[in-house]
Amino acid sequence: MEAPVDERITDEIEALQAILMNDVVVKKVGNVPNIIETVVHPSTGDDVDQQYVCVTLEVMLTPEYPDSSPQVTLRNPRGLSEELLTTIHSQIRNKLKDCLGQPVIFELIELIREYLTQKNLPSGQCVICLYGFTNGDVFIKTQCYHHFHNHCLASHLIADKKNYQEEFDKLPNWKQMEEPPYQQTCPVCRCKMSFDVETLKKAPPPVESTTAAPFILTTDLKALQIGFSKLLAYQASRGGVIGIGDNEPPPLTLTSSSDNDNASSNGLASTSQERRADPAAPAAAPATADGHAPPTNYRGLYRGFRRNTTGRRGRAAR
Ligand SMILES: [Zn+2]
Ligand SMILES: [Zn+2]
Repeated sequence: MEAPVDERITDEIEALQAILMNDVVVKKVGNVPNIIETVVHPSTGDDVDQQYVCVTLEVMLTPEYPDSSPQVTLRNPRGLSEELLTTIHSQIRNKLKDCLGQPVIFELIELIREYLTQKNLPSGQCVICLYGFTNGDVFIKTQCYHHFHNHCLASHLIADKKNYQEEFDKLPNWKQMEEPPYQQTCPVCRCKMSFDVETLKKAPPPVESTTAAPFILTTDLKALQIGFSKLLAYQASRGGVIGIGDNEPPPLTLTSSSDNDNASSNGLASTSQERRADPAAPAAAPATADGHAPPTNYRGLYRGFRRNTTGRRGRAAR
């Protein structure tokens, strides 16, 4: 026999489904609603392209709900700072207290939406140029909710395609036939994307890049470099940096010194030379037993990722 469900809950869920339709997921245990999940976006009318942030709201109902507060979780935040998430969390706690005894889910959605609408500008940096997003910047949101300045994404995609073509040209004919065609991917999560580079290219460079002070290599930065080179040595000694499986080229690869000497301008390291030993350099030192990087400066294959000339350094070099 099925347990009777509190009418307040069935009414609330009916209302949510009527308003949000396919955008709300109701998970049940038997016939009892247990988890209600929806992705909250900022209000931008019907203009989905202008939504730069989002978060998944998960509400787990307690058996006594709405006479006791549900358990609320925010998952997969996109473009939101830790600070804003903390604020939203504390506002949610207040709302739960105020609404004890009555349905609260729609109130929660509205509360979160209000914050997202206020802060509908991605936090953090463009991973290509490492500058932030400010008013006046022309930037783009991918389908995977990652953000880049149009200008930077154009440079990245041009370099990426050039790199693909260079690698492709090195392959013997029979291998070229098997090679999948070039596909744009997100530099953060590698989701497939499809942008018109010519349109992206028309955007101005990031606002902060035009106002930033010239780059200076400080002792702090040098220490950071040493720290990262140790980390890289550790990763290399464990078999590589980051790969995406056996059938596709690893998007982050190691370069040799000769590689760098030949470097023209753009592009990541050649995949065919990945992990090929530089005869002039000693092999990467093995990690110590406690799993930490060896306490020496890494002098192996890696000489730094190449970058294009439109980023921060590009400006400093001018
Ligand atoms: Zn950028
Ligand atoms: Zn992405």
